[in-house]
Parts: sequence; structure tokens; C-alpha cells
Amino acid sequence: MGVKVVKFGGSSLADAGQIKKAAAIIKSDPERRYVVPSAPGKRFSDDIKVTDMLYACYEKASVGQNFDQDFENIKKRYNDIIAGLEMDFTLEPEFAEIKKNLATSGREYAASRGEFLNGKIIAAYLGYEFIDAADVIVFNDEGVMLRRETRAVLRERMKNVERAVIPGFYGRSQSGVVRTFSRGGSDVTGSLVARAMRASVYENWTDVSGVLVADPRVVDQPIVIPVITYKELRELSYMGFSVLHEDAIFPVRTVSIPINLKNTNHPEDPGTLIIADQDAEETSLRTITGIAGKKGFCAVNLEKAMMNSEVGFIRDVLNVFADMQIPVEHIPSGIDTLSIIADADAIEGKEEQLLSELRKAVEPDSVEIEPDIALLAVVGRGMRKTRGTAARIFASLAHARINVKMIDQGSSELNVIVGVNEHDLHQAIRCIYDAFISSTL
Ligand code: ASP
Repeated sequence: MGVKVVKFGGSSLADAGQIKKAAAIIKSDPERRYVVPSAPGKRFSDDIKVTDMLYACYEKASVGQNFDQDFENIKKRYNDIIAGLEMDFTLEPEFAEIKKNLATSGREYAASRGEFLNGKIIAAYLGYEFIDAADVIVFNDEGVMLRRETRAVLRERMKNVERAVIPGFYGRSQSGVVRTFSRGGSDVTGSLVARAMRASVYENWTDVSGVLVADPRVVDQPIVIPVITYKELRELSYMGFSVLHEDAIFPVRTVSIPINLKNTNHPEDPGTLIIADQDAEETSLRTITGIAGKKGFCAVNLEKAMMNSEVGFIRDVLNVFADMQIPVEHIPSGIDTLSIIADADAIEGKEEQLLSELRKAVEPDSVEIEPDIALLAVVGRGMRKTRGTAARIFASLAHARINVKMIDQGSSELNVIVGVNEHDLHQAIRCIYDAFISSTL
């Protein structure tokens, strides 16, 4: 029998009703054998995630403040779930143990208990074995997860385990301390389990039916991306698409296990399939896979006659940025001009120093900082094969009277990055969406 690893996010497990949906999904396919749950998330928009309740509880406990009420509220979340699932089950011994340890076992221990307790309930409800993530996800003492060790330990522990629930988000360090990933880290656990168990697919269940072609706050009802490659996803994530925890890609990517993003509330929707680049050849239906934009950049524009013949010019410019600890995002250049696109926050407060260092280093004819730049990424593996994509992008921007400040196309031909003024960003995304997507629907 094949193996599917299924991870459910916090909103998919926020209450008994949601857990019933998740359980029905799991039971509907016998290959869904390993389940990685998050802690209960929000049930409504201004609800509080259990993980946040635990952090707040820890803040009080660690300075000796009374946290009884906060702890009761957490217990109530779980007891309501147990009651709603009509289970003959109690977490009282676990609650007592956690309360006793809360002040002394560290912030990450406290946070991890959200997944731990939810995992206990879900394992009992499904009738699956519960495997404590602390026993199988290995961290070093600096809090870095050790991939090889984790894979070996997971494989050994799961050898004869037909079906199991392994809580997300945490593990244990080699010296015995519970450690967590950064926020959203249950995605990483799911990926590690999928890799170790050589799953045919890693299903990641949330409350949306996949990755949208563009931000729904900018474009009205954008369509879902049916298939995206890891590389494309990386490009879009850099521009602010938040889809999966960054570290969740690597374990499955190295062995080409696809990730299927699915919606717990609409399991019939196909969702988005994230696949390896080499598996994507024939799957590209559209020229453009996604359009993303991000504000908050500035351009440092340098001009100097005969710049291109001055050996080491760009290096000297970049050294100034490196010395001042300013990360550089893009470097579009002309014959006698060079722009450095950088995060505006990284430059803030250092403007005068940056200009004077640059004048000293390369003696430009002019140098200025242009604020309020937004970057727009038009991403698509289909662009490689389609001629005229750039023409269509720029024609549509021109048509909308949007001034293009810079253009950057990487050698992968997967991505065209366009710099525009911040106030033009949304309009630019909309007109490219219209040109490439709406027009084909
Ligand atoms: N519960 C953790 C968080 O809220 C981890 C996760 O849900 O993935 O960040």
C-alpha cells in the first residue's frame, strides 16, 4: 500500500467540528496513514490560537505570576473538543504534568504542548498510534533540527507502525530539551515524515483551496494555481506569498515528493500541486503561474560616465553595501548607470552615510536614493517557451499608464521582476492578471 502523509493546519483542527472533517478525510483514503496535526487554531477571526495562549501563559509562569485562569482557558479549548467529539477520554494527567512544568521547562516546551495535546486527542479519535514528536524529531543544542538523524530515528521508530499521529512543530534536542521550529513549523514536521516514510505525496490541509495566482485583496477572486514548481513557489514566496513554512520544501524537494495543498472545508477541490521542476515539463497550461508584489524597497541610482570600462566598479559599490550590512536585492544596470535595489528598512537612518561612502568609493557623477519602490514578480515556467511574454507585460503596463522603473529577468527565464512606484503596484498586478489570466478564462 502507498503512503500519504497528511498535515492539518490549526484552523482545520480548531474545534470538534473541524476535527470531524479532518477525520473523515483521513478515513476516506486508506493510504492516508500518517497524520501530523497542528495545535487548535482560530475558530473565528478574532479568536486566539492555542499556541499563542501557551506563549502568554509561559510569559506569566516564567516570572512567577499567577497563570491559573490562562491555563484553565487552554484546558477548556481541549475539553470542549473532547466533549464535541463525544469521546470517553481525558487529558487531566497531561494537563497536570504540563502545569507543573510550565514555568521551568522553557518557552518552546510550553508552545509545543498545543500540538502534543491535540495529537493525543486525534490519535485516540482515529484509533491510531500516538508517536511523541520529541522521540523522533531531533534537534541539536542550538535548536537546529538535524535532518539525517531525524530521518534515521523516524524510520526506525515507524518501521512496523501501520498508522500514526505525530504532532507537528516540535522535537527534542540531543540533551533532552523540547525545541520547536519557528511559527508555522508543523509544515516542516509533515515534510520530514513524508520524506522518511517515502510518501507518494505530502498532503497539506488548510482552509484555502490552494495557492492563488494573485493576492485576493488586490485581484477580485483570482483563480487557483493547479500546478506549481518548487522554484516558482520560491520566487513567489520571496515576494510575500505565504504558503508553507520555508523549511518545509527542502526535505521533500530533494526526493521529488509532491506537496498537495488541500482545503479541509472543500476536500473535493483539487487544490494546488507543488512538484519538482523536472517533473513539470508538460504540465504548464498557462504562460504565467503567479503574480506577486511587494512594497518597501528603494533604489540607489548611480551614474558615472564610462562606468562600464572601470574594472571593479560594481564590486566597489557592493562593498559599501556589505560594509554597511545592507542586503542587496537586485542590480539592474545600464551603460553608465547602475541601480541597487534594497529593502527600504535596511537603509533607513543610514541614507547620508550610504551616499557619502558611495561618493568616496566610486566618485560617481551623481548618486541618489529613490524611495517608495515596489517590486512586482511575474513568475511562470511557461515563459521559457512562449515568445512575446515581456512584450505583453510591458504593453499592459503601458496601457495602464504605469511607469516602469526597472526590469530584471533572471537567467532561468522563470521570472520577470519589474520595479514600479508603490502607488502603482496594485494596478500593475491587476492589469497583468487581466492580460494573462482573465483574457484566457
Ligand atoms: N502551532 C504552531 C503555530 O501556531 C505551529 C503550526 O501551527 O504549524 O505557529
